[in-house]
Amino acid sequence: MGRIAYVNGRFVPHAGAAVHIEDRGYQLADGVYEVWAVFGGRLADCDGHFARLERSLAELRIPLPMGRRAMEVVLRETLRRNCVRDGLLYLQVTRGVAPRDHAFPTRPVSASVVVTAKSVDLAGDDRARTGVKVITVAENRWGRCDIKTIGLLPNVLAKQAAREAGASEAWFVDEMGLITEGASSNAWIVDSGGVLRTRDTQANILRGITRQSLLDLAKSLDLRVAEGPFSVEDAKMAREAFISGAGSVVLPVTRIDEAIVGDGQPGPIAKRLRGLYIESARRNAA
Ligand code: PLP
Repeated sequence: MGRIAYVNGRFVPHAGAAVHIEDRGYQLADGVYEVWAVFGGRLADCDGHFARLERSLAELRIPLPMGRRAMEVVLRETLRRNCVRDGLLYLQVTRGVAPRDHAFPTRPVSASVVVTAKSVDLAGDDRARTGVKVITVAENRWGRCDIKTIGLLPNVLAKQAAREAGASEAWFVDEMGLITEGASSNAWIVDSGGVLRTRDTQANILRGITRQSLLDLAKSLDLRVAEGPFSVEDAKMAREAFISGAGSVVLPVTRIDEAIVGDGQPGPIAKRLRGLYIESARRNAA
């Protein structure tokens, strides 16, 4: 059976799915997206991702053309039609189709909604056993990284630089030498004193939904946790490092640029949090 996408009210074959050339997402990156991990056919951190979607849309003043309930029906139907048990669900909402003009359309337009789903064995990701390499790149994104916008060019370039360096992720480093986050994940370390650190949400980062669930888990384990800045040097000297996101869940980082992290093996806290997150996501997915 071929893949099916949802596009503006219709389920259509993925291979031929299309939006209009004057869609403002295509022309101007005027839109937002959301990604859910899927476990057992249900959505991990379902409410958190919805809440962030609603916030992103509100910040950009894009009205969702359907209510939350209807949106959920579309998301679940997309999973069903694609027979996805474990995988990823992608939702994109743009301001809609209008004659090209930077300012908002003066006539009312309906937002464009696209949903796709694919099967991915998130829990069986080999990289969780081996660990991944990350590179560091200069932060060059706009000042509203808290909005999950489809305008991702700096992230695209950073990710390509990572790929060319044989790495899985790029960590952005601000002008103070402090790590903000990854191109498509949040950045974490267990510092040389044993404190679990990830950048605070006052900084210019995306408020990762997986990040928040991991913070809750870490606190329930009585780990010492600090949300705040840490430098590239701190990261390279850390006992452990890892990344988090809907697509990566938790992946241990064993190399940062040319530095080996800890003993070069996935760290115990990263492995534990990954296991617990997957367990709790399977239990609580909705
Ligand atoms: N930071 C960035 C820039 C991202 O693109 C993502 C996920 O796509 C994340 C962090 C992690 O967010 P979440 O855990 O909500 O997937």
